[in-house]
Amino acid sequence: ENKVLTDLEIAQKAAILPIGEIAERAGINADAVEPYGRYKAKIDPARLRLPTDKTAGKVVLVSAMSPTPAGEGKSTTTVGLADSLARAGHKVMIALREPSLGPILGMKGGATGGGYSQVLPMDEINLHFTGDFHAITSANNALMALVDNHIFQGNELNIDPRRMTFKRVLDMNDRSLREVIIGLGGPAQGVPRQDSFDITAASEIMAVFCLATDVDDLRDRVGRITVGYSHDRRPVTVADLGVQGALTMLLKDALKPNLVQSIAGTPAIVHGGPFANIAHGCNSLIATRTAQQLADIVVTEAGFGADLGAEKYMDIKARIADVAPSAVVVVATVRALKMHGGVPKDQLKQPNVEALAAGVGNLKRHVHNVEKFGITPVVAINKFATDTPEELEWLLAWCAREGVQAAVADVWGRGGGGDGGDELAAKVAAAVAAPSDFRHLYPLNLSVEDKIRTIVQEIYGADGVEFSVPALKRLADIEKNGWGGMPVCMAKTQYSFTDDASQLGAPKGFTIHVRDLIPKTGAGFIVALTGAVMTMPGLPKEPAAMRMDVDAHGNPVGLF
Ligand code: ADP
Repeated sequence: ENKVLTDLEIAQKAAILPIGEIAERAGINADAVEPYGRYKAKIDPARLRLPTDKTAGKVVLVSAMSPTPAGEGKSTTTVGLADSLARAGHKVMIALREPSLGPILGMKGGATGGGYSQVLPMDEINLHFTGDFHAITSANNALMALVDNHIFQGNELNIDPRRMTFKRVLDMNDRSLREVIIGLGGPAQGVPRQDSFDITAASEIMAVFCLATDVDDLRDRVGRITVGYSHDRRPVTVADLGVQGALTMLLKDALKPNLVQSIAGTPAIVHGGPFANIAHGCNSLIATRTAQQLADIVVTEAGFGADLGAEKYMDIKARIADVAPSAVVVVATVRALKMHGGVPKDQLKQPNVEALAAGVGNLKRHVHNVEKFGITPVVAINKFATDTPEELEWLLAWCAREGVQAAVADVWGRGGGGDGGDELAAKVAAAVAAPSDFRHLYPLNLSVEDKIRTIVQEIYGADGVEFSVPALKRLADIEKNGWGGMPVCMAKTQYSFTDDASQLGAPKGFTIHVRDLIPKTGAGFIVALTGAVMTMPGLPKEPAAMRMDVDAHGNPVGLF
């Protein structure tokens, strides 16, 4: 049989262990395990009993060059690398984000890896999983219902309905909800105002959920969320409404990290799911910390390219707790390099060493960016069946010339549990063991303007940044409200170092345009919106949903 199996078919054929066995393998005491069905469980961090002499596991952060629309295989490499490290005898745990339904029904696919490097049960993780996204969506929308009810009931806080900044959310790509009018129908139906929906992955509740250190910190952060402004322009927070307790209650079970397994049986925590282009882009801090408590090496992923996910990991997440990576993997593919070298997307399968050479500048910039955080990166060349030996050799030779550690990984085709990632694992293990000198890119006491300028010049390679008139006004408000000490969360296209998705490679001589700034006072960062980035994506002309179904046995069909 020569047919290439789909990710779903591989996952359905794989042997899967009862989750209790995986918990035991991970060293989790049975009374801290809350099973959700047979193959998923939540871990109750409050009940975890750990050996007192265990030091925190080292973090390996998997990031990537600027991707093609299909993704370059970060999740696949994260899972495969962890399996290979486990095969080499290390005590490893995987930490990944939870998938969003928007991209699943749309086009990008899931977030559970691919080929023989996947986490299981892939369909359940990709669909409703343990209900965390439901809880986050519910908490977000409960807040908005409470806010609109407050306005309806007399508006004691003097909230200006024209200056609401918090939005309703839905875990779906639904462009028709980007701008809506609510409260129509007369005095009994509420106060009419213009409203707007974001995707759940962009919700500040999601960001807060993923950055909270524990349930008390979650309540404090939720309380600090700004929902909008009063008629006299004062920020109105969740604590002003007095509902941080109720929202925390809606999130209390979701906050426990989810345990699953890879095809090779490596324990994996999949928890929290902010996007990396419009949010900070990594799994929950609680998940990373829990994995660090249990394992010696934690392999985790930061979304999209290293200009987005990795920068935010280092400058946002790694300021809250000691989760700084000991090693960073930059995933590169021959097809993405060829795309950056000017090859049209429908011709990426044809051998073309010249295009590789023309596109390698993109990888080079990402690699040097990682070095700015004091960490020496390892390049993982995620091998595709269409890659030729000449192309792979050229790329390895380029890495050698540049003095960059690199390995070809075939964890998709052969699995990390097989021998597909042995060389990569050896190089990563060496990088983890080598001393590193982690530092943030910028100090928090820089002005917001200078923080953004630092990111766009140092990481994107831009000449500078241009703020729109509304963004300039917002900058002044941010300083006035005393929010200037927060880090910045850039919202930018993942396809380019610029804010224009069509500018591939390693562009020079460009300016980044910040059109608006949104203070996320609960999450503790300021979102800088650049270019045309959408916080509510749309579906493509032929959504992936058209291929999906359920067979006579109730099994999913066509889920990639
Ligand atoms: P990312 O995390 O970078 O978005 P994923 O790991 O989710 O990327 O992979 C995206 C898609 O590409 C998945 O469907 C996966 O099966 C596929 N894929 C990844 N690596 C390979 C490979 N080496 N060969 C073929 N398909 C791959």
